[in-house]
Amino acid sequence: MPHRLTVVVSQSRSQNPKKRDLEEQIVAGLLGERGIDVTVLPNLYDLKPEGSGLLCLSGITGDVVICSWLYPRAARWILDRNQIRGQEGSTLLKSLGESEEQDDEQEQTESNESPDDKLRVIDQLELPARRIYCLDLRAYDDPAVFRNEVKRIARELATPTVELKSWINGSPKPEQMERYLAADSPDLPPPTSTPPLPTLVDEDAARRWYPVIDLSRCTNCLECIDFCLFGVYGIDARETILVEQPDNCRQGCPACSRVCPENAIIFPQHKTPAIAGSADVAGTLKINLSQLFGAPDPGASGAEKASEVAARERDEQLLLAGREAIGVQGGIPKRHATEQGSDCPKDELDNLIDSLDELDF
Ligand code: SF4
Ligand code: SF4
Repeated sequence: MPHRLTVVVSQSRSQNPKKRDLEEQIVAGLLGERGIDVTVLPNLYDLKPEGSGLLCLSGITGDVVICSWLYPRAARWILDRNQIRGQEGSTLLKSLGESEEQDDEQEQTESNESPDDKLRVIDQLELPARRIYCLDLRAYDDPAVFRNEVKRIARELATPTVELKSWINGSPKPEQMERYLAADSPDLPPPTSTPPLPTLVDEDAARRWYPVIDLSRCTNCLECIDFCLFGVYGIDARETILVEQPDNCRQGCPACSRVCPENAIIFPQHKTPAIAGSADVAGTLKINLSQLFGAPDPGASGAEKASEVAARERDEQLLLAGREAIGVQGGIPKRHATEQGSDCPKDELDNLIDSLDELDF
């Protein structure tokens, strides 16, 4: 069956004419391209949990290219939290703020690093074989750059791969030879005389604000669930962290992203690239945390400073919600540490768990 690729254009939140123009030119230039379907959605991050946008995305089962005004890491994990999963497709395009030199530096740093043996949540996920490519619309002004990359991806996916192993031994099978000779004309459907229309999803998507977890970094340490006092996080049946009540998150509050030891918590619309999902934090911890997160106490380490800022931000939100501030001493109550005998004072939930233990069913 001929290969089809779906291109999803996730629109900007703003009505900025330059952004709309870029989106429209990408869509117009891809209509009628062999093997490519085009869908236009409101901003990915704002889609309602059971709205038509997510319904439409869930119905796409093949390879997909997402063009959004977000960092690729943010786009990928927004999809994941909505059960839209696949293997990460690799693109030749950069995301906002990324440069060739930065890429080389990052590769160099990664090759010098000692192997990380931490178990990540992604290691337990079973991802389907289809590919998901995420392109950052903020990185280039020219719509042709995106159109050409989409066409390159479509050709790459439609070209049958040749099993090199037996070629090296000098014995290609007849069917391999046939596929090799046909490789110049990839398996794309024939051109259509009338270009199809794009699928337009019209959803009244209001602006949302909630954390998105990068499961390729998350170690399920549960620091975030302990830190957030607004009931945003929860755990699933396999005791893995999840954003259970996203809309409980306080508008503009990024506090828990500062306390996550793995930089796994993303707020895609935050103005600071490292919090919004930039690859700088995804690749290595090159960023100096004290510079990134401010320095309330000159004697504190980078991580302590981050915790202080996070506690202050959380206090602001507690006060705004009419609750009492708890300050940095309220810090991150180590519920799991308490179970291991630490001196942290017990809270109501700990006392409840202790009482249940005493009941000895
Ligand atoms: S604090 Fe970070 S690493 Fe730990 S469970 Fe939360 S998201 Fe995952
Ligand atoms: S940003 Fe604040 S309110 Fe939102 S999940 Fe994190 S700690 Fe909770």
